[in-house]
Amino acid sequence: MNSSLAPSLSPQQIVQLLGARTEALPYARPVQWLLTDSRSLTSPRDSLFVALRTESGDGQRYVAELYEAGVRHFLLHEGSLQASAYPEANCYFVPDTLAALQLLAAAHRASLPALQLVAITGSYGKTIVKELLYQLLSPRYSCYRSPRSYNSQLGVALSLLGLRAEHELAFIEAGISQPGEMAALAAMIQPEVGVFTGLGSAHQEHFASMEQKLEEKLQLFASARCIIYPKDKGWISARIEERYPAERLRSWSYQDPKATLYIPHSLTHADRCELTCIYRQQAYELVLPFTDAAYIEDALTALCLVAELAPELLGEASLCSRLRPVSMRLEVKEGARGCTLINDYYSCDLQSLPIALDFLRRRADSSGMRRVLVLSDIEGSGLSDEELYGEVARYLRDYEVQELYLVGPRSSGEAKRFDFIPCSCYPDTETLLGSRVLEQLSGVCLLLKGARRFAFERLYRSLSAHVHQTVLDVDLSAVVSNLNHYRSLLPPGHPLICMIKADGYGVGAVELARTLQEHRVDYLAVAVADEGRELREGGISTHIMVMNPELSTADTLFEQRLEPEVYSFALLEGLARAAEAHGLSDYPIHIKVDSGMHRLGFSAEDIPELAAQLAQLPALRVSSIFSHFAASDEGEAKRSFTEGQYRYLLGAAEELSQRLGYRPRYHILNTAGIERYPEYALDMARLGLGLYGISPTQLPGTTPIARLSTVILQLRELPAGECVGYGCRGLTQRPARIAVIPIGYADGFSRRLSNGAYAVSVHGVLCPTIGNVCMDACMIDVTEVPEVAEGDEVLIFGEEPRPIQALSAALDTIPYEVLTTLSPRIQRRYWRE
Ligand SMILES: *Cc1c(COP(=O)(O)O)cnc(C)c1O
Repeated sequence: MNSSLAPSLSPQQIVQLLGARTEALPYARPVQWLLTDSRSLTSPRDSLFVALRTESGDGQRYVAELYEAGVRHFLLHEGSLQASAYPEANCYFVPDTLAALQLLAAAHRASLPALQLVAITGSYGKTIVKELLYQLLSPRYSCYRSPRSYNSQLGVALSLLGLRAEHELAFIEAGISQPGEMAALAAMIQPEVGVFTGLGSAHQEHFASMEQKLEEKLQLFASARCIIYPKDKGWISARIEERYPAERLRSWSYQDPKATLYIPHSLTHADRCELTCIYRQQAYELVLPFTDAAYIEDALTALCLVAELAPELLGEASLCSRLRPVSMRLEVKEGARGCTLINDYYSCDLQSLPIALDFLRRRADSSGMRRVLVLSDIEGSGLSDEELYGEVARYLRDYEVQELYLVGPRSSGEAKRFDFIPCSCYPDTETLLGSRVLEQLSGVCLLLKGARRFAFERLYRSLSAHVHQTVLDVDLSAVVSNLNHYRSLLPPGHPLICMIKADGYGVGAVELARTLQEHRVDYLAVAVADEGRELREGGISTHIMVMNPELSTADTLFEQRLEPEVYSFALLEGLARAAEAHGLSDYPIHIKVDSGMHRLGFSAEDIPELAAQLAQLPALRVSSIFSHFAASDEGEAKRSFTEGQYRYLLGAAEELSQRLGYRPRYHILNTAGIERYPEYALDMARLGLGLYGISPTQLPGTTPIARLSTVILQLRELPAGECVGYGCRGLTQRPARIAVIPIGYADGFSRRLSNGAYAVSVHGVLCPTIGNVCMDACMIDVTEVPEVAEGDEVLIFGEEPRPIQALSAALDTIPYEVLTTLSPRIQRRYWRE
C-alpha cells in the first residue's frame, strides 16, 4: 500500500476533522493524494504523507527526505518531530496516525449518505466475492470496490477514502487478524449491507475459539439493514440467525427451502455449473462458468446480493455470462502422495497473487493441510525488486504461507525477505524439477504460480497423481448430435429408449442420462437395479427400464420407480408378489420375447399361459412387448433371419395384446436395426452403440464421443539390440527412442496389445507398443516422431488416425468391449460446447 487517491481536503478541514495540533499552516494547497509508503511518491505537492508506525519501522524517518522532494503535508505522531525543521510544510500532530487516517475515512464515508455500501467479511473468499459482485452489478450501477485485497485497518481506510460522490454502490472488504479490530473497521465502514463469506481457521492463534472469532467478525454488521450469508454452515449459520432478527437476514442454501435463495438442483459439468435457484417462489435457471465448489459458493453469495438489490436481473440470461474467474483460472487437482495442487494458469502478477493465496488458504484450511507456494519471478510489474518483493512478502504473511519455493534469479535475490518461513531458491524450473524436492512433499496444499516463461506445467505434471494422466474425455455435445442423427433415421417424434447399461457402455451413465433427459428421450435403460438407483440419486426422473432385474432387488425397483423387463414365469410371479407387498397396482413391466436370439424371453407358445397369469396379477401391467435382434448388423445374408425375428415378435405381441385386452407398445430395433431396418420401427426404438458414435454398419453421420489419451512420462534413447520390458520381449531393431506411458492392462489396455500389436498416436504419428504391456504402464517406440518431449499427449483412441475401431480390431473384438473394459480408475472428463 503506497499512494492512493483521496478526497480533496483543505488544511483547515484536516485540522478540524482530526482535532490535530498544528504550529502553523504555511501551505494552502489541498491534499489530493495519500502517501503511506515513501517509495511510491508521485505528486509531492498534492500529497499528504501519513507516517505510520509498523513492525518494520516508523514512517517518520522518511519525513526529511520527502520534504526535500517537495511534500508539504505531514500527518505525524505527537511528540516525535519538530515542526520547525520543516518551515514550509503543514505538520498535523495526532496521538495515533493510523487512527487519524481511519477518522478521515469514516468522515468521508459519512459524507456519502446516498451510497449503498456493502461490507464483505469472512475467513476466505472476500476478494472473489467482491470481484464477482463487481462483475454482476457494475453494468447496472456505478460501482466501486476496494483495490486488490485492501482489507486491513489501513487498507479499509484507504479503500474508503477512494470513494467518490458518483458511486452508487461500493464493495468494501474487511479482514481482521486479532480480537478488537472489527470495531474500528465497522465504525469506519458503517455498511448498509453485510456479506459473510464463511469461517475458516485462519488467524486462529489470536482467538480463544472459533466462536470468538465469529462474534468478532459479526460486529461488522451491527448497523447493516441486511446480512447475506451461506445457510448450510451448521453452527455458524445458527449463530448468525440467533444474533440478528430474521427480517434482516438473507441466505442461500442447497438444503433449506426457507433460505432467500434456495438451490434445489445443481449440476457441475466439465466447464460450468447449472443451477436452479428459487427466489420468492420463482425459479431461475442459472449457468455459472465455474466448476470449483468454492467458486460456486462465492458466486451464490454474490447472487444473493443481486436478488436483494436488483431481483429483476436474475431473469436476464446475460447476468451470469458476465462472470469470469477472478483475473485468473485456477485449477485444482489431486496430486501424488495426498497433495492438492492448485495451478494458476493465468498469469504471474502482483494483482492476482492475493486472490490465488486466498484460494490456497481456503483450500488448505478446509482439509487442515500445510500451505506451500512455488513462485517464479514476477515479470513486468514496473516495480523495483525491492518494492516488488516487499509487497510479495507482505502478502505471504497476510495469507500465512508456510513454505516457499522461489524459482528464478530475481526472486532468489530477494530471498532474505522471506526469512519468516522455510524458503528455498532455484535458478530455473529445470533445477527445481531435477532436485526432486517437491516429490518429497506429502499431504500439503501446493499453489503453483509461475510466469509463462517458467513453464510450471512441467512441475504440475510431475506432481499430478499418475492415475489422472490417463483420461477418458467424453463429448456430451457429440452424444446429442448422435441422438439427433438416429432420430432423423426414424419417423418424426418416434419414441426412443437410450441404452446406458454397463455405466453407459463404460463412459459414465449419470452424465449421459442428464444430457439425454435434457433432450427428452422417452426411456433410459440400464442392466441392473443398482444402476437405476444411481441415476435416480443423480436426479434423473425419466422412465428407466431395467433389462436384467433380479428378484432380490425388487424393493429397489419399486422404491426407485424402475421398470423391469420380465423374461420368465418365475420372475413374473416373484415380481408380482413383491409388488403386491408394496401395495402397488398396474406397475409397468416390459415383456421380453425370444424371437431367435435364444438368450432370455418368452416364446410364442408361452403367450396364452402368460396372458392367463397376467390377468390374475392386477399389481402389474404390461407397458411394452419387445424383442432383440441377433444379427441386424450382419448384412444382407441375415436379412431373412432378421425379418423372421420381426414377424415372430409381431405375432406374439398381437396375441398377447388381444388376450390382455389392451395394447402395450412394441419395439425391436437396436442401433443396427435403426440403420438397416427402419421399416420395423413399431412404437419405439432402442438406441445403444450409435449414441456412443459407433455405427455398426459403418454408416456416416455419427460422431465419436469418447477419446482416451495419456501423456509421455519418460523418454529414453536406446541403441539397437536392447531389450525392453518384462521378459525382454521387446528388442530394439535400430537405435530407438522409447517412451513410457502410464496406461497398462489394469486400465483396460490389454496385454494382447504388446509387442507392436497396436500403435498409439503421438502428434499424429503412429507409435507401436514395444515389449509387453505392464499392469500400470507400457512402452512405445517414438523414434519416428519429430520433436517429441516428456509430457506430450498420447492418443490411445478417439479421432483419426486412431478411431476406437482400430483398437477393437487389434483386439479382435468389438468397440463395446473396448469401452466397457476401461478401468474405473481412468478419470472421466465431460465436455459440452
Ligand atoms: C444393449 C441393448 C440394446 C442396444 O444395442 P446396440 O446394438 O448397442 O444399439 C438394445 N436392446 C437391448 C435389449 C439391449 O440389451
